[in-house]
Amino acid sequence: MNLDLVNVRLPMRDEEHLYQLSVRDGIWTRIHRQEAGAVLPDSISMEAWSPGNAEDMAVIDLEGKILLPGFVDSHMHLDKSFSLTSVENISGTLEEAVRNYSQASPAFTKEEIKSRIVRSALQALSFGTTHIRTHLDFNLRASREVALRTVEAALEAKAMLAPFMTLQLFPMVPYNLDSLDIGVIEEALRMGVDGIGGAPHLSLTAQEDIDRIFGLAKKFDLPIDLHCDETDDPQMRTVEHIALRTKAEGYAGRVTVDHLCALASMTDADAHGIIERMTEAGLKAVSLPAVNLYLQGRRDRFPVRRGVTRLQEIWQAGIPIAVASDNIHDPFHPFGRGDLLQIALIGSYAAHMGRPADLRTLLRMMTDVPATVLGLTEYGIEPGNQANFVILDGGSPEELFTLLPERRWVFSQGGWRRSPSSKAQWHDKELSAFWKNASETVSFRKQELARGSVVSDG
Ligand SMILES: [Zn+2]
Repeated sequence: MNLDLVNVRLPMRDEEHLYQLSVRDGIWTRIHRQEAGAVLPDSISMEAWSPGNAEDMAVIDLEGKILLPGFVDSHMHLDKSFSLTSVENISGTLEEAVRNYSQASPAFTKEEIKSRIVRSALQALSFGTTHIRTHLDFNLRASREVALRTVEAALEAKAMLAPFMTLQLFPMVPYNLDSLDIGVIEEALRMGVDGIGGAPHLSLTAQEDIDRIFGLAKKFDLPIDLHCDETDDPQMRTVEHIALRTKAEGYAGRVTVDHLCALASMTDADAHGIIERMTEAGLKAVSLPAVNLYLQGRRDRFPVRRGVTRLQEIWQAGIPIAVASDNIHDPFHPFGRGDLLQIALIGSYAAHMGRPADLRTLLRMMTDVPATVLGLTEYGIEPGNQANFVILDGGSPEELFTLLPERRWVFSQGGWRRSPSSKAQWHDKELSAFWKNASETVSFRKQELARGSVVSDG
C-alpha cells in the first residue's frame, strides 16, 4: 500500500518540527522535515479519512498528531491470558499462581490455548503493538503431550497472525531439570521456536539449570530470555550467574533478564555491583511494572515493598531496559489490556519517572528499546524500514501519558488494521474472523454472563 502523511509529529525524532512521510509498498520511503510556511499537497484530514475511501491515493493530514513506530511488547504470556475464569489465585502470590496454573494446564485444549493467544495478541495490536515476544508454559511435569500442546498452539497462532504482526515464542524450560526429560525440551526447540525461556530463580538447583539452558541455547543457536529473581528476597541473585555465563559463553547481546525484583529489595551498594556486572556482560533487561506491583510484597506488613526493579538506575547504566505487559487477566495478574502506553504509565508511577525527559525515555522503553531486545532489524521510522506504526490522538508525550488516548490508527505489515473512523472493528475480514472466533472462547466471568442472557431473553 502507498501512503502520504503530512503534519506528522515524531516526538522521538524532533519536537520542533512537523514531518511529511511516505510509504510505498509497506516500506518507509521518505521522512521529510516540513519548514515553516511550506506548501503542502492537497490532503484529507485524518479525522475525515477512512481506510475505505480511495486509500491508495490519499494524502492524509495528521494535523499534528503523534506517530510512533509500532509498539514492541517484549514480555507477554499470551497462552495464559484470560485464564482467570478457570484458574484462581486467592493469595495473590507468584507461588500460588505458578502452582494453580500448573495444576489446571493439563485440562486446556490446544484450541483453547490458541484462542487465548490470538485474542490477546490482537488486543495488543488494536492498541498499536506490532511485535510481541511471548513466553510459553512448558508443563513437562504433567506430560510430554501437555508441554508440547502449548508450543503447537503457539506455532499455529504465530503462523495465522504472521500477515499482520510478529510473534516470537520462548518456551519456559522447566526448573530442577535433573529429573526431567531433556529430550522433550530439545524436541520443542526443534519445532521452530525463537528462543529459550525459563525461571531458574524458582529452582532448587538454579546454577545447574542456568548452565543447562546455556548449553541448549548454544546447541540450537538460540537467544535466551529468563525470568530473573522475581522475588522480594534480596539474597536471590541468579542474575550474577547468568551474567557470568553470558560472558564465558560469548553470549553478550543474546541474553535478556526480566523482572529483577530482588534488586528493588537490596541495598544500593549491592544493587549497583550487580548492575555493573549486568552491564559488563552485555545483558538486556525487561521490567514488568504492573505485574510486579501486583504480585510482590505480599508477605510484607507495612511498609510494603513494591517489587518493581530499579528502572532508572538500570537505564542510566546504559543497559537497554524495556517495559512490558507480562500477564493479562490470569492468575498472575487479573488486569491489563495489552496496551503498552498503560504499562509505561504504571512504570512511571512505580519508578518515579514523570519529568519531561522521563516520559520521552518511557516512549523509547516501549518502542526502540524492546525492538533491540527482540533483535528486530528494519524497525523504526527510517527510509527502507517496514512501515509499522501507530498514530495516537495527541500532540505531545505529556498528552499521551495524561489522557492515554483511545483513538489510535494502526498500520502494520503493509495495511491499516484498526482505526476509530471505521465502523468495523478491524479493516480486514480475516482479522475480524480471527477476533470473533477467539473471543467466543475467552470471556470474563462466564457464569454471570450466561445467567444475564437468560434474563434478558425474558
Ligand atoms: Zn513473565
